[in-house]
Amino acid sequence: MTARVIDGKSVAADLRASVARRVAAAGFTPGLAVVLVGDDPASAVYVRTKDRAAREAGIEARTIRLPADTPQDLLLQQIAALNADPSVDGILVQLPLPKHIDTYTVIASVDPAKDVDGFHPFNVGALADGRPKLVPCTPLGVMKLLAAAGIATSGARAVVLGRSTIVGRPMAALLLAADATVTIAHSRTRDLPGECRRADILVAAIGKPEMIQPDWIQPGATVIDVGINRLADGRLVGDVAYAAGAEVAGAITPVPGGVGPMTVACLLENTVTAAQRRRGG
Ligand code: NDP
Repeated sequence: MTARVIDGKSVAADLRASVARRVAAAGFTPGLAVVLVGDDPASAVYVRTKDRAAREAGIEARTIRLPADTPQDLLLQQIAALNADPSVDGILVQLPLPKHIDTYTVIASVDPAKDVDGFHPFNVGALADGRPKLVPCTPLGVMKLLAAAGIATSGARAVVLGRSTIVGRPMAALLLAADATVTIAHSRTRDLPGECRRADILVAAIGKPEMIQPDWIQPGATVIDVGINRLADGRLVGDVAYAAGAEVAGAITPVPGGVGPMTVACLLENTVTAAQRRRGG
């Protein structure tokens, strides 16, 4: 079998176009503030990508760059100013933060109504409660990919590999809300290949290059690869051994060009949603 390739670039382009149409029809310009602390090169690339995509969609994006040794109090003051600024609809604090800063405290300081990453405890709780408000962008993007590819979630056995607050946990909550039967697997799971093989929908988010082998995949299953791993030779690969996995899966996302573009597109969508809700829409 050769799997159908789920083209994240194309689905993301459609979503970005629909966000741009929403912005054009809204009668106001949504504002997104991205806070970048330090000079991590990967973070700088992500921030530039988000900034460009936002502008292209008609969102006013601004990046607040702070030095790596910024004291936590100063960062919290900066976020408080953005919370109070009526021209700012979405606030995103680029992670990871430098070690002297407590990530949880910073995330919890963002106004939940402007928390376009969906990481604030209020938004985490709302999702866990089955009443999602602003939802983390990567798992939201995965749900949109599944829908675009016509993959039914209701009654499906879904296995989420990874339990981070950014991907694994919210992914499981969204699949559960979409009526899948969900298993969360992680580094302490016994018989990982066996757990994965039971999945009709397998979402891999562990950050281990090509760890998921073809014999971990149920023939015909849908495989969503969230992992982004840079190899020593410069190649970018996912958590799934893609070429061999595609011989077994029914549908599969590539890396790059799968989940990654959806994350940025969903950030734009969350920003417009936050902007409309703040204006009573
Ligand atoms: P984390 O490092 O925060 O979490 C990794 C998870 O994988 C943990 O729950 C960990 O288990 C589990 N894990 C690690 N090693 C193994 C193993 N050998 N066997 C089973 N489980 C394991 O990563 P993130 O969730 O932030 O990111 C995961 C991947 O997704 C990364 O490659 C990241 O780059 C990528 N990513 C991609 C995005 C995109 O837009 N496409 C966005 C965000 C992330 P335990 O909890 O037990 O330690």
